[in-house]
Amino acid sequence: MKIAVVGIGVAGAYTVNRLSKEHDVIGFERMNEENHDSICAWGTTKTDMSKLARKCDLNFEDYLLHDGLNLRVEAGTNSFAVRLNGLCTYDKIKLIRDMSHGIKIHYGKAPSKAILEQDFDLIVDATGFHRILLPKPKNELWIPTIQYKVKYEKVPFTDFMIRPFPSMTGYFWYFPLEDGYAHIGAGDKHRRHVKIVNDFLDKHNGQILKKVGRPLRLSPPALCEPFYDGKVVGVGESIGTVFALFGEGIIPSTICADLFVENINNLPRYRELVLEKFKIYHTVFNFVKNKINNEFSMMKHLPDLIRIYSYMKRREDRFGMEIKMADMIKITKV
Ligand SMILES: Cc1cc2nc3c(=O)[nH]c(=O)nc-3n(C[C@H](O)[C@H](O)[C@H](O)COP(=O)(O)OP(=O)(O)OC[C@H]3O[C@@H](n4cnc5c(N)ncnc54)[C@H](O)[C@@H]3O)c2cc1C
Repeated sequence: MKIAVVGIGVAGAYTVNRLSKEHDVIGFERMNEENHDSICAWGTTKTDMSKLARKCDLNFEDYLLHDGLNLRVEAGTNSFAVRLNGLCTYDKIKLIRDMSHGIKIHYGKAPSKAILEQDFDLIVDATGFHRILLPKPKNELWIPTIQYKVKYEKVPFTDFMIRPFPSMTGYFWYFPLEDGYAHIGAGDKHRRHVKIVNDFLDKHNGQILKKVGRPLRLSPPALCEPFYDGKVVGVGESIGTVFALFGEGIIPSTICADLFVENINNLPRYRELVLEKFKIYHTVFNFVKNKINNEFSMMKHLPDLIRIYSYMKRREDRFGMEIKMADMIKITKV
């Protein structure tokens, strides 16, 4: 097939890599080649990313920047530390570039949907939050974010640190990269994130190298249908593959792209598998939404909390950290 992949983020890069072995694939990315970047804190976990990178004949260890030992969760009297086992930061844009290496990518503005439909048998919408080719879902939940890349002579923190905001409307993050570099940012439904990040940077001033920001989709796949429409099929954050508790989308979006690649000839099956694989994301989303709207009740929502805890506990490797019920309960009190 002649396939267009629009959006070369993690999901798009993985898709072009895997599909180009059997199909005629062309990528389209709206950023310029020189400025192509990934607006993201670059935090992920080693086990799952290693498996996914291996499927593209790449070694994830080559991209590792910081291998975490502890995550400090600063939430006043509910502060705690989480022992890490796999949570890391990596050079996300380098991995994206290497995944798409050797494949024809057009940078700058992508052609219109009508032109793509004329020229291609299948069009992949991998444009993340923008979802430019599929119909937009109604009543979506998303949060605005801002992030700086900062270089410190003397780092304020040596490991991962987050500060959840009251009612979990978002959080502030400090993610170490390497050699004194860090991604410092925040997202907040109530838009206090800009001031909070600026206050942090005033207190811990380093050399600011880059400032970026974009909305992050929290609505899960179950609320982001359709996944395909005519010749267009969505992968990644365009169809809601973000674990809303952390705003984590790298592994889910790559897994989603993998499901698509494996089921390219059976889109109804792809839809079913996405809904099944990301079923718990709906429960997680409801938990976060209830917290944001101050509608969370321990009595009423305890079964959901236990479901989320059990899911994460059975996948400590996937989340790269030790999962404890006591920590989950502290989170509910934020
Ligand atoms: C500030 C921030 C920090 C984050 N930190 C983390 C983190 O540490 N760990 C984690 O797991 N997740 C994180 N996430 C979420 C994660 O980045 C995304 O969920 C994930 O990258 C989604 O992958 P994707 O390929 O589906 O979409 P994206 O990564 O958004 O890629 C979409 C691509 O499409 C391109 N594009 C958009 N519109 C068009 C168009 N019209 N034409 C052509 N191309 C287009 C974009 O330029 C981009 O390259 C963060 C998100 C934000 C906003």
